[in-house]
Amino acid sequence: MLNDPLVQELLNEVVQDEENISIVECLIDGTNTDEEIAEKTEIKLNIVRKVLYKLYDSGLASYKRSKDPETQWYTYSWKFDSNGVNTQIQEKSADEINNLREILEIEENNMFFVCPEGHSRFAFDQASEMGFICPECGNDISFQENDGIISRIKEEIASYEKAYSIGRTENAK
Ligand SMILES: [Zn+2]
Repeated sequence: MLNDPLVQELLNEVVQDEENISIVECLIDGTNTDEEIAEKTEIKLNIVRKVLYKLYDSGLASYKRSKDPETQWYTYSWKFDSNGVNTQIQEKSADEINNLREILEIEENNMFFVCPEGHSRFAFDQASEMGFICPECGNDISFQENDGIISRIKEEIASYEKAYSIGRTENAK
C-alpha cells in the first residue's frame, strides 16, 4: 500500500514530516498502541499521539478506548483504516482526472505557439496579442504541434482510471 505514489502523497500531507511515515508503517503492521509505536519507531510519544490523531482526523485511522480494570487507566487501541485511504485516493484521482480533462480540452481546442528558447507558450489569441514575439527574449514564437502532449495527457488519464478503477461514465462531463 505504501508503495503507491498517491497513497504516499496522501499520507505525507497528513503526517507532514516524512520521518513520521514510520508511525503509519508501524500501525499498518499491526502495532496498535501509541506507546508500542513510540518504542518501535523511536519517535517521541507526544509526536506519535499527534500523528495518530491527525490520521484519525483525516479518516485514515480509528481507535477503540478501553479501561484497564486494574489501573483504571484508559488505553487506546489504534487501527489503520485502509478503506478510508481507498476512498480518499479515489476522490483524489477523480479530482486529478478532472484537472487533466480540463487541460486536455484546452490543448485540443487551441493552437499553441512557443519560444524557441522555451521561455513562453501561448495559445493563439495570446500569441497574437504578443505579436508572435516572446516577451522575454524577443524571438519569434512559432506554432507547436501538441499531438504528443495530448496523447500524454490521455495516457495519464487512462492510467489514473485503470489504477484506481474509476469508471469513465462516472466522471464524464
Ligand atoms: Zn523567449
